[in-house]
Amino acid sequence: MTNLLWLQGGACSGNTMSFLNAEEPSACDLVTDFGFNILWHPSLGLELGDNLKQLLSNVVSGAIQLDVFVFEGTVVLGPNNSGRMNMFAGRPMKDWVQDLAGVAQFTVALGDCATWGGIPATEPNPTQSVGLQFLKRQRGGFLGAGYRSKAGLPVINVPGCPCHPDWVTQVLVAVATGRAGDLALDDVQRPSTFFSTFTQTGCTRNMHFAYKVSATQFAQRNGCLFYDLGCRGPMTHSPCNRILWNRQSSKTRAGMPCIGCTEPEFPHHDLKVGTVFKTQTVMGVPVDLPEGVDKKKYVVHSAKAKDSAPKWVEHDIFVV
Ligand code: SF4
Ligand code: SF4
Repeated sequence: MTNLLWLQGGACSGNTMSFLNAEEPSACDLVTDFGFNILWHPSLGLELGDNLKQLLSNVVSGAIQLDVFVFEGTVVLGPNNSGRMNMFAGRPMKDWVQDLAGVAQFTVALGDCATWGGIPATEPNPTQSVGLQFLKRQRGGFLGAGYRSKAGLPVINVPGCPCHPDWVTQVLVAVATGRAGDLALDDVQRPSTFFSTFTQTGCTRNMHFAYKVSATQFAQRNGCLFYDLGCRGPMTHSPCNRILWNRQSSKTRAGMPCIGCTEPEFPHHDLKVGTVFKTQTVMGVPVDLPEGVDKKKYVVHSAKAKDSAPKWVEHDIFVV
């Protein structure tokens, strides 16, 4: 049996909603097939009031073993580092997080808020929100750069706004079946199996990207969303076009630009007016180019690509 405790800090419950939609495996499968015992969860937990305080205290004292501590949402430090903007079970939530992370075999941060601060940590960050072990790309966060769970791992970061439900359940299964050691983590502690490729990997609009044929409206059936609508698919590490959403689609397949939600810099440009769904350019060249692309070579290549585009790429074809 694997004891799992899930708490939520500064968040919208989006990752909980996503988790409850998981299919491979589902949230129920975790309990029936993989031996999870959900000690408490903000939407599923039964204990309230004093009973909940007692449960949490028993976990902190070690009377109940904590195998997996899942945290969704930011750690709220405001006002003035007191944490009193986010009280839970009689204490600032940050104090529970500190104590529970200290006894957990594994600590998992779910969603952008818990991983690197996400939207709540956007300047001016009135709640003094931070992620569990990062603030944006800066290592440290609430628990500190040196934090290791009892099993010797740093926080396992599963980002996204929200993260895909199956990324969550598959990471939890790896932990429960003793394969956490197989979870190679990248430089910002994301499991590489999900985050070593790009949103663009598997995107049905890749041929339009190659020929520089642009979509200029949401849901347009042909064209790439990179050139005008600010798609961050070529520089965002995610499997969104490999592990589809609801088993059938993705943002870019539906004609919606990737907004780069799995990267620590999300929300990009701190949501400044005119930066969302709008490709930022200087002299017609996108400011953010696909990862690893040289700017000068890009300019030469893209002029040739546009010139050599076949007629059919302009046709109204399905790319879903
Ligand atoms: S729509 Fe986005 S992810 Fe798809 S090919 Fe264009 S830039 Fe890449
Ligand atoms: S397509 Fe981009 S913005 Fe959408 S969920 Fe995937 S990584 Fe996030």
